[in-house]
Amino acid sequence: MSGAGYAADAAALIAAHLREVADFPEPGIQFKDLTPVLADARALTVVTDALAANIGGADLVAGLDARGFLIGAAVAIRLGTGVLAVRKGGKLPPPVRSESYVLEYGTASLEIPAEGIDLTGQRVVIVDDVLATGGTVAAAARLLRSAGATVSGVAVVLELGGLGGRAALEPLPVSSLYTT
Ligand code: AMP
Repeated sequence: MSGAGYAADAAALIAAHLREVADFPEPGIQFKDLTPVLADARALTVVTDALAANIGGADLVAGLDARGFLIGAAVAIRLGTGVLAVRKGGKLPPPVRSESYVLEYGTASLEIPAEGIDLTGQRVVIVDDVLATGGTVAAAARLLRSAGATVSGVAVVLELGGLGGRAALEPLPVSSLYTT
């Protein structure tokens, strides 16, 4: 199937299986739960293929904590690359490379191992479930670059179009399968 064919099929399956939860985790937030999309055999395959078709070239997939781990691993197998889990702070044994970012209330951090993998010169694509403001992906990109990688792009299943994530990440190419 062509890339466009995958994308149309993926968007229909995401729309069919997406679960929307009002006021979670805070009042006013419309939470996009992709759990039923990933749990459906056909949707998982089509979404994985559509994400992979959108990725121009990469040596490694970086999946963001936590649903990005699942999606990133599936995409990496399709692309024939390895996968790197970008963890939330405090989960990995030392030594770690860390990058902080600002949340609505307070700060958070993302971490990758500082030993055992060499990212120098590697083209890394960042994969996650939902792109909202782009703050998480931006922090992941800074983290990966600080380790010597080139971030070649971002691939997400769903994009919240009104929150400016795509613009915040410019000039990084962002592909998404579904925009709300
Ligand atoms: P952001 O840094 O604002 O782009 O937020 C992206 C991260 O927060 C992703 O890892 C998403 O899993 C999660 N996220 C943010 N907003 C939502 C939402 N409305 N529904 C589901 N997940 C969200």
